[in-house]
Order: sequence, then C-alpha cells, then structure tokens
Amino acid sequence: MTTAETESVESFRARARAWLADTMPRLDENAPLPVLGDDDHEWVRARELQKTLYAGGFAGICFPREYGGLGLSRAHQRAFTEETAGYEMPVQLNIPTFSIVAATILDMGTEEQKRERISAAIRGDEVFCQFLSEPSGGSDLAGLLTRAELDGDTWILNGQKTWSTSAYAADWGLCLARTNWDVPKHRGLTMFLVPTVAPGLHMNRVKMVNGSREFCEEFFTDVQLPASAVVGEVNDGWAVASRQLFHERNAVGGGSPFVSGLAGRPRALGGQSPFTVAKATGRAAEPGVRERVGEWVALETVKNQMVARVSRAIGTGTLPAPGAALLRLFHAEAAQRSTDLAMDVAGAQIAAGVGTEEGIAGRAGVSYLSRQGASLGGGSSEMARNQISERLLSMPREQSNDRDIPFNQVKRGRS
Ligand SMILES: Cc1cc2nc3c(=O)[nH]c(=O)nc-3n(C[C@H](O)[C@H](O)[C@H](O)COP(=O)(O)OP(=O)(O)OC[C@H]3O[C@@H](n4cnc5c(N)ncnc54)[C@H](O)[C@@H]3O)c2cc1C
Repeated sequence: MTTAETESVESFRARARAWLADTMPRLDENAPLPVLGDDDHEWVRARELQKTLYAGGFAGICFPREYGGLGLSRAHQRAFTEETAGYEMPVQLNIPTFSIVAATILDMGTEEQKRERISAAIRGDEVFCQFLSEPSGGSDLAGLLTRAELDGDTWILNGQKTWSTSAYAADWGLCLARTNWDVPKHRGLTMFLVPTVAPGLHMNRVKMVNGSREFCEEFFTDVQLPASAVVGEVNDGWAVASRQLFHERNAVGGGSPFVSGLAGRPRALGGQSPFTVAKATGRAAEPGVRERVGEWVALETVKNQMVARVSRAIGTGTLPAPGAALLRLFHAEAAQRSTDLAMDVAGAQIAAGVGTEEGIAGRAGVSYLSRQGASLGGGSSEMARNQISERLLSMPREQSNDRDIPFNQVKRGRS
C-alpha cells in the first residue's frame, strides 16, 4: 500500500471510484426539484456528506496534511471530481468555505487559525462566509465604513455588511473593517475572523427575485473580538483582502484546486442547460435549437480549456495572480449567454413552470431572473476588466481622487 503522499493519480482514482460506489448516495435525476429558498436542510445534508468524505479519507484533497487535508495535487483533485459524476456531493461547501475562506486562511492566517478553522471545515464541522460588501458599495471595497476599535486587548466591531452568500448557514465569516481612519483607505483596514453567533451580530436573510434566500445582511453592534481574531497584520488587511479576492475570482472562474465534486442535491443537476432543456421540451431535433445547444457546448469547451490553461500559468508564475480575472470574466460572459440560450430553447414553456417551480423549462425561466448575478458575484465584470487592463496589460491605472489622502478627509455622501 502506498502512502497518500506518493500515491499515483491513477491509483487514487481507482480507490476513489470503488469508495464512491460503496459509500456515496447516487443522484436521482427524477427527484422533484426543491423549492428555492427552502434550503436549510441542504446545509445539514452538506455537512453530513462532508463528514462521510472525511471518514473515507477523501476530504480536503489539496489542503496540507498538517491542517487536516491530504496534501495531494490538483491532478488528484481533478481525478476525484471526475469520478464523482452521478454522486451527491457537498458542493455548497466549495464556494466560499473551501475555495475562498479556507484558502485565504491557509495563505494569510496564523498557525492556530489554520489548524483550527481549516481542519474543522474539512471534517464537516464548520462552514464559512465572507463579510466584505457594504450597502455603500462593493466595488470600492477599500472604501468600506465598518469600523473596529481597540478597547484594551479587545476589538469592538460596529457597522453593516450585505450580500453575504449563505451566511445564515455559516459558523465564521471573514470580515474586513477599518481600524485606522488617519491614513489612505487601503492602509487602515484589518481582516477579522468573526463567529456568526457573536453577541451583537444581528443577521437577516434577503429574499431575491428568484425566490432564493441565500443572501444575508448583518448588523454589528459592539461585537467583541479577541486579538486572536485578526487575520494577517493589523492595518494590513488589504493584503489579506487582495489574496481573498484572488481566491474568489479563481473559484468563481472555475480555477480553484479546493473545489471538489460535480453536483449536489437535485437543484444542482444542471437541469437548465440548453442541452437538458432541449431534451426535456422535445425540441432537440429542431435546427435552431441544435445551433443553440452547439453554441453552449462550444462555450463550455472553451471555458474548460481556458481554466486549465490560466490555472497552469498562474501555478507556474507565467501569469500573475490577477490573471484569475480572466477566468472570472469569461465565467460571467459564458454563464449569461448560456442562460439566454436556455431561455430561447425553452420558449413559451418557461412560463408554465415559473409559478410552480416544476419542470426544467420553468427552472430555466427562474434561472434567467438571476442571470445578472454572474457579472456581480466575485466582484463585478467591470472590476475584472479593470484588473486585466491595469495588472495584466499594464494600461494606465483608473483615476482615483481618494487613493492617497487620509480616509477621514475623503468626502462621502453629504459631507
Ligand atoms: C452571487 C453573488 C454572491 C455574492 N456573495 C458575496 C459574499 O459572500 N460576500 C460579500 O461581501 N459580497 C458578496 N456579493 C456582493 C458582490 O461582491 C458585489 O455585488 C460586487 O462587489 C459589486 O458591488 P455592488 O453590488 O455594491 O455594486 P457597486 O460597487 O455599487 O457597483 C455598481 C455598478 O457600477 C460598476 N462600477 C463600480 N465601480 C466601478 C469602476 N471603478 N469602474 C467601472 N465600473 C464600476 C460596477 O461594475 C457595477 O456594475 C455577492 C454578489 C453576488 C451577485
């Protein structure tokens, strides 16, 4: 028996195939689609499945062994993910828990944070979320207003965050706050790990137009945090946030090594791709429909090859980390085009299912309602374009009036 460190990809794949067949539940394509917004049970299920993966020795494949992972390569992870086709997996934990928050803690956290938080997530005991965006705007992240002040050894956090994906199901959030108002905006920020049940943290779920309630907003009123809650250095939170944004673009774009598995519960069966909509509506033989399905296949093919190429280039240093913006941008363009193509293929049948949320064509209609999210989540497409032009193509930086002046002198709102 080889050790996990030296096991070949093919041996790992064979072991995974046998274990998945013996252990993991099969996806049931005929199961009724759940009602959007009623997803609490999915999180209980995701934690159960993660515990099963951990017990079987297939959790945290690319995380280091000292933090509870297997310390294996991207190729091992890719092989495992390919083998999971047809099985239920805890895919809700991929973004943001593993591929954004745990990845950022791994790069920037203290030894204690890495040992405790990353291993707890890999065991299926903890879920993470991100407290970054604020009601005053998410693109200008460095201009945020949530503040943390030291009282003796304790940080006191006050402010508001919004658009936090699945925070209601999370145990901890990475929260960026202003800790120095006398310096320019990027230099007075600190990143904190905040328990979502901390006294003084009030959370509301936000209902979206498609019925989903996965977004949350949070109000922090005198939330007390110990010094050990700081991730990275005090007042150097921008360095942590930059790493977090890299992981976010990489994850949303499809390039993260910490994403495991292809599909989760029935809502994630890919029921609304142009291909499955064409099959479900009996229109697969129509030439116009075949053209649209063909375009979708081409987009998927280009996306997969682009993910492989850009990830490899970032991994070898040929492309700097902001190269993840290429993946993030293409993801948005491809996701929105695919949603439009599925709508076209579904035709009038989208209306039949929207009210009842039954049927694949109806699901394509519901999906269309949130198509714009693809160009906002993980930072907007415009910000990705800015990254590409400034950081990859060395074009002039966007003009900014507040980059170099102390934040307490920056004009805001009516000031
Ligand atoms: C699916 C999804 C998941 C999300 N998850 C989270 C999460 O877990 N945690 C979290 O904190 N946030 C989350 N967000 C919020 C997301 O990060 C923000 O929506 C995003 O950063 C944009 O911020 P905003 O919505 O405040 O728009 P704004 O920043 O107000 O921007 C509005 C518009 O102006 C454009 N714009 C702004 N500045 C510029 C500029 N300098 N140049 C060109 N155009 C510009 C933007 O591109 C956008 O089109 C999520 C959003 C979505 C859609």
